[in-house]
Amino acid sequence: MTEHYDLHCHSTASDGALSPTALVQRAHQCGVTSLALTDHDTVAGLNEAQAAADTVGIKLIPGIELSTSWQNKCFHIVGLGINPMHPPLAEATRNLQLMRIERAEKIAAKLEKKRIFGALEAVKTAAGDGMITRSHFADFLVSQFHVSTHQDAFDRYLGSGKDAYVATAWAELELAISWISESGGVAVLAHPLRYNLTASWVKRLLTAFKEAGGAGIEVVTGRCNSDEIKLVARYATHFDLAGSVGSDFHNPANQWVELGRLAPLPENIKPIWELLN
Ligand code: AMP
Ligand code: MN
Ligand code: MN
Ligand code: MN
Repeated sequence: MTEHYDLHCHSTASDGALSPTALVQRAHQCGVTSLALTDHDTVAGLNEAQAAADTVGIKLIPGIELSTSWQNKCFHIVGLGINPMHPPLAEATRNLQLMRIERAEKIAAKLEKKRIFGALEAVKTAAGDGMITRSHFADFLVSQFHVSTHQDAFDRYLGSGKDAYVATAWAELELAISWISESGGVAVLAHPLRYNLTASWVKRLLTAFKEAGGAGIEVVTGRCNSDEIKLVARYATHFDLAGSVGSDFHNPANQWVELGRLAPLPENIKPIWELLN
């Protein structure tokens, strides 16, 4: 049987709309045979996802998407095949949850200065036991008619440099990669074209990423065209990185991104799943 991989998606443990169970069921219906659940800075959805994967008969790869800082910029590192119980990784997720609560309080305070009230209570309720993210704030701003779309919420309030933006010192890139590697997983640079980097920054970042033990890069994402795939495939080849494929699925309401709806990995790129045990 040929495997069908989707190695990047989110559940209600972070900013996804579906529970881990519903997400796994949907992935199965979409033809995915190997799914990595990669919630932002948390492994809290993995047990439920594993039980659902056993029930429907697909393979679950334990994952995480870590928020990291490098040269004062934020980069997302997906860990695949991690051991969620590895003590440094488990401790990191506890710290990240506290950082996210503190950041949420600061974002809410900035929104109050713009006479937008009630955000903190709303995002805490929406996130429940899961990680609070800027997506939760965007949902709140849309629901209260402060903006009309999610994108507007980032463009007007939540995006870098906007009124309610709070710069955050995430874990250093090298440290985050070590948590992933030492737990038995492989580190993958998520959505490399979403950081708006110049070519020289790409070169510096990928050099540092590789030196720190980074193993792969997302060559195929949920919304990319063939030119973008070719460009990232060139990065993979040049920096000797394996290629990953992941939709970054969050919400069935987004018709542009679906679980497993991914172009094939170019044949000359080493697949990241060959590095997973
Ligand atoms: P956080 O990790 O809390 O900063 O939230 C980041 C999440 O917000 C990302 O994973 C996306 O789901 C979402 N996000 C970030 N930037 C944008 C944007 N410009 N438009 C829409 N969603 C975004
Ligand atoms: Mn997200
Ligand atoms: Mn991301
Ligand atoms: Mn993601």
